[in-house]
Amino acid sequence: MKTLFSNYSFGAGLATDLVNTSAIVWTSTGEVLTDPAALARFLDEHEARLDSLPRGALPTDEDLAQVLALRQETRALLEAEDEDEVAEGANELAARASAAPTLLRNSAGEWEWHVTTDPRASIADELGALVGVGLLGVLHTLSHARFRHCASPVCAGMFIDTSKAGRRRYCMPGLCGNRLNVANHRARRQGNEARPANGSGTGTR
Ligand SMILES: [Zn+2]
Repeated sequence: MKTLFSNYSFGAGLATDLVNTSAIVWTSTGEVLTDPAALARFLDEHEARLDSLPRGALPTDEDLAQVLALRQETRALLEAEDEDEVAEGANELAARASAAPTLLRNSAGEWEWHVTTDPRASIADELGALVGVGLLGVLHTLSHARFRHCASPVCAGMFIDTSKAGRRRYCMPGLCGNRLNVANHRARRQGNEARPANGSGTGTR
């Protein structure tokens, strides 16, 4: 597998989405990566082109177990308060797939800085290299402050904010922002219901 070192937002997005497949985030529907087919779908949706997974092939149960372990490791790196610990962990993820810096020409003949992995690396190792490169790129180019917990009080998700402005607040912006609105709406309604009938005059009588 090869990935452009400058495209760290791809690996950071992959890290975010991988961490957020967990049942601790999907409290009502549960684990997203329930079987190898679910892992294949996840990789497909993210257009993660891995040498270890030829087109149309299915990951094994062993691959799934390794990816779930990688997910836990990635979550721990997103949660780590010590920046050096993150760099060390991300370096280690890249090293596991023997990721090496490689200078290649693009179709316009210009040099591009890639990271290539050992062709014999496993699915989890290749994914880990993508995640590692993403984390390292964010640490180097943006800052450790871009690793965040979801702002929704009812969500345990985490994310890496690679947006230009750096003001992202939710792990799944469409979903968690709405979840928060629903929670606020419920709290307001319960507050109104708790008020005495001769109170502020809101509501119908
Ligand atoms: Zn969230």
